[in-house]
Amino acid sequence: MSLKTIRARFECDGCGREFFIELASDIEGDMTLFDIAVAELSSGFAFHSYVGETRSSIEESFMTSVQAGQHLCPACTRRVDDFVPQEREATADEIAKALA
Ligand SMILES: [Zn+2]
Repeated sequence: MSLKTIRARFECDGCGREFFIELASDIEGDMTLFDIAVAELSSGFAFHSYVGETRSSIEESFMTSVQAGQHLCPACTRRVDDFVPQEREATADEIAKALA
């Protein structure tokens, strides 16, 4: 049997909700699994599901992000991206305002 996926569990720094992403990257150089998980979260495309829910369909509306060092679930990413132009990363103040 071959390894198919590795799943990482995050707690959203915005709302506190926990969610899973699935890691598809190969390990390069001296990256740890934690480094890879954060990189995949930042890429936005690895979302699997919120904890306690069945798998969500993979849609653009389920993008995750890392902005101003905060790990954000799809719902919080959407709220922040609606608040701040997507050409740049939101600041911590903007994230707090977007999620207030
Ligand atoms: Zn959230």
